[in-house]
Amino acid sequence: MNAGKFFIERVPAMNWEFESTLVATYPTIYRSLKPRFCGGCLFECDDGWYRIIDELSRKLEMESGKSHLVVIEVRGQLGSLRFRLRGEITGAVDNWLTEAARLSQRTCERCGQPAALRGQEDGQVRTLCPTCATVMGYVVE
Ligand SMILES: [Zn+2]
Repeated sequence: MNAGKFFIERVPAMNWEFESTLVATYPTIYRSLKPRFCGGCLFECDDGWYRIIDELSRKLEMESGKSHLVVIEVRGQLGSLRFRLRGEITGAVDNWLTEAARLSQRTCERCGQPAALRGQEDGQVRTLCPTCATVMGYVVE
């Protein structure tokens, strides 16, 4: 990957208010979450997935006392929401993570509307509704 391409592939970032709300509402699980990059954000995805993250966080926070769960990474990857956790990943926790990932694959990362996986000519993929895909230069079939 050359420097020019890296510049074009901006890392999606959740808006600051959403980030601080999540961290304040679920202080146990997000106590160790740090940006991966200097000046980067904590939640590397767009605002459309906020409700999915909020719902998952609520369950994880309730479970965290028992399983010592700590979130170490939240990001969109290949059009799907990925959470990396430390702690005891029980069957229930694993199900919640899978469920959230599945839901993200049908939810526009930008606006939260029903969506599908879209590609860009350079090979990038994201889950976007038709409107956002057009705005962001992704292919709408
Ligand atoms: Zn959208």
